[in-house]
Order: sequence, then C-alpha cells, then structure tokens
Amino acid sequence: MEEKLFSIHHLVPRSRIPEEYIQRLNPINTRKKENNIHEAWHRVFLNLNPFEILVLFLTIIYPDIFISARIIVQWENIFSDSFILGEKRTVLPRESFSKKKYLLLRTIFGKKTSPLEIVEIIIRDWSPENYFYFVEIMDNKMNSVVHYSTQYKEKINKI
Ligand SMILES: [Zn+2]
Repeated sequence: MEEKLFSIHHLVPRSRIPEEYIQRLNPINTRKKENNIHEAWHRVFLNLNPFEILVLFLTIIYPDIFISARIIVQWENIFSDSFILGEKRTVLPRESFSKKKYLLLRTIFGKKTSPLEIVEIIIRDWSPENYFYFVEIMDNKMNSVVHYSTQYKEKINKI
C-alpha cells in the first residue's frame, strides 16, 4: 500500500499575515494536509485567503450555480472584509481559471462533491475556526449553507 505523505498548510497564507503575527497565529492557522491535495490546492488557489477563495467560487469558478450570498469575515484584528453576490469584485482574472484547474478541484474536493458542499468544506477544513463571522450562500436548487462564528452567536444572544 502506498504511504500517504503529509505537510503543514497555512490556512491563511503566511504571505498574507503581518510578519509579527505569524508565529502567534501558527497554532490556529495551520493544518496537516495530504501532500498531493496540498500541492493541488496551491496550484489552484495560489496564496489567496479563504475569503477570496469563496468569492472566487461565487464569481468565477461557478458563476451560474449560486443565486445569493453574503459573507463577512473578521479574523484576529488582522483581516476583515465582506462580500455580497452581485457586487463587482475581481479576485483573479477569469482567464486564469483554466480547464486544468477545474480538474484539480476534483483532486482537492473529490469527484462528486457539489459546489455548495465545496463551500462547506472550505469553511470547515480550509479556514481557521471562527475566521468567517457570517456566511449565507444559496444555490439555484434553493439549498443553502449558513455559518455563524462563535463571536456572532454570542452577539446575537446578547440582544
Ligand atoms: Zn499550504
């Protein structure tokens, strides 16, 4: 049997974090990934952060699948941003997403995984815990993903 090799992935790329925070954030920002999946991930997503990757899915990778989306990210006082489907936002040029990259998505997420399931996997397995403050995304079959961070839930409970 072939032995699986693993390497350490930074969920938010190191290059996107101010130098002085990298060490402190390592425990919450790293995860072990299978080598072949890890390599495929960076070939497809370069050094985009998880927020930009979701926006890429919504705008470029599957432009016709999702009918509504709201994303708010707020992470460790380092990064905050939001996106609503329909607003103009260019993460990467469309032509940079080649056929080859669509094939690599199968390596990363599996062959039968739906776009909405991929969104769930990115939030669960490829983002730091509580990185996404709030996410609500609906596809054209009216299935949706709703995600709240611990901080969001605490705030709602206080009201
Ligand atoms: Zn990595």
